[in-house]
Amino acid sequence: MSKSAKALEKQDYIIVSFSGGKDSTAMLLRMLELGEKIDEVISCDTYKEFPAMYRHLDKVKVAVESAGIKFTTLRNEKSFDYFMFEFRSEKEHPVGFFKEHPELKGRSWATSKVRWCTKEMKIKVIQKYLRSLKEQYNIIQCVGIAADETLRIGRKGNQEKNKRLPLVEWGWTEADCLKYCYDKGYDWEGLYEIYDRASCWCCPLQSLKSLRNLRLHFPELWNELKEMDAKTWRKFQVNYSVRDLEKRFEFEEERRKRNLPIKDKGFYSELKERLCA
Ligand code: SF4
Repeated sequence: MSKSAKALEKQDYIIVSFSGGKDSTAMLLRMLELGEKIDEVISCDTYKEFPAMYRHLDKVKVAVESAGIKFTTLRNEKSFDYFMFEFRSEKEHPVGFFKEHPELKGRSWATSKVRWCTKEMKIKVIQKYLRSLKEQYNIIQCVGIAADETLRIGRKGNQEKNKRLPLVEWGWTEADCLKYCYDKGYDWEGLYEIYDRASCWCCPLQSLKSLRNLRLHFPELWNELKEMDAKTWRKFQVNYSVRDLEKRFEFEEERRKRNLPIKDKGFYSELKERLCA
């Protein structure tokens, strides 16, 4: 039997990819409300979600399972911290490299060019799981991309015929999604009043604004971030270690109290001195 004939024989299997964010939450809740067929909801844990996000995921899981639908949480059996602080790939470096650089233990902080965490903690884990299902089923994957996320909608991977974008079909924007979730009683304990996106709290690719908010609203996580930074070899961001950021934010607070600007030449030249001190 040809490959395509075999594929035709396979049963459709509807998966909802659920990150826990506002868009995929709105998609999932609305699909449940409409009574749409869902065979399985898949969520992937990076080990570094906000505590409020873990509570949100648990709450949605209960709703999904009460509707008689399978909810699967995937995670790499090796933790984020393992890859960050311990992992060493002999394949990726010349022979003897680690003997010469014993300090380069673990992959350290991700950069925009080396997003190892997206790959190890999400993509590979999800792909492996889907591969096993694909042997048995014709997978249809529902992805929570909002109608106003034009760039993401246009990506080749999201245009594949086994992908369905329900929010785009319904014309739901990101703002519509958040409102719908709030109306349904899902509020992430205020996470979206602070952040536009709720991804890993320790992400080095987040903006200064997000990091300021992390320090302000989640001091315990900020302290954990400092501890992580003290244990690793790559600088947290190109211009700042976490300690540097702390100095910058403290300096900003001082300037604000004195009604001085925090983005002018005077600010940056004094900041430079403080960071070098
Ligand atoms: S949100 Fe940041 S830390 Fe988390 S997986 Fe993505 S790039 Fe890595």
